[in-house]
Amino acid sequence: MPELPDVEVFGRYLDRTCKGRVIRCVTVNDPRLLSGISSEAFAARLEGVRILSSMRHGKYLLVRLAPAGWLWMHFGMTGALRHWEGGETEPPYTRIRVDFVDGHHLAYTNLRRLGAVGCAEDAASFIAAQHLGPDALDPHFDLAAFERVLSARKGDIKSLLMDQSALAGIGNIYSDEILFQAGIHPKTKIDRLGVDARERLFRQIKRVLETAIECGSGAELNTDALPRSFLLRQRRKGGHCPRCGDVVATAKFSGRTAYYCPHCQIEGS
Ligand SMILES: [Zn+2]
Repeated sequence: MPELPDVEVFGRYLDRTCKGRVIRCVTVNDPRLLSGISSEAFAARLEGVRILSSMRHGKYLLVRLAPAGWLWMHFGMTGALRHWEGGETEPPYTRIRVDFVDGHHLAYTNLRRLGAVGCAEDAASFIAAQHLGPDALDPHFDLAAFERVLSARKGDIKSLLMDQSALAGIGNIYSDEILFQAGIHPKTKIDRLGVDARERLFRQIKRVLETAIECGSGAELNTDALPRSFLLRQRRKGGHCPRCGDVVATAKFSGRTAYYCPHCQIEGS
């Protein structure tokens, strides 16, 4: 399921393959994925516009258009982008198809149809309207900003990391890795985190997400591409901790399953 690193990789892919191209027409195969706009209005809004560049906030990808406006996308559980050139038929599960005037194409694919696509006049007001916290990789999101996020919330640290209104971009998968790398048990209460643990956690948020982007995360996360020290390579029943070799344990968080090492991840610390 696409989280911050995956969406960042989608954005770079879109910039690499579609930047500067002019849209000839748009086909909406599944109008249920459109948010706040009809298929006809969406297609009319995009015809003739040029793709300038993309930006990301949390799990949202925003594409700047010329002469004006933005296209935004959320990838839900199974969303992805696919570019192709020439007459090749569209990829499976294409929900929205963009044909460019120069014979290139872009598909927004989504097997399970969770996710959304829409248009916005302005990126900053769109992000504000989604009630998102700071983007986890925003350079302005520093240790002091993280401390502010922690002090404003109660409950366990795993749920906070996944709460998009507190901090945008991290989901079930990467919160497991961040907590593992920081050596913190997922059920640790926020107010039980010591100064050292908070700082370790902050450093690992940045390091884990940046490493995953460098490794080329994406729709089909290729865990073999991640460093051997990552828990994600062992994130399954019967998997072994890459640090101590213990069998990984699971815990439930509002319906989501967390994986952790009962030996290396200690409450509080
Ligand atoms: Zn361990």
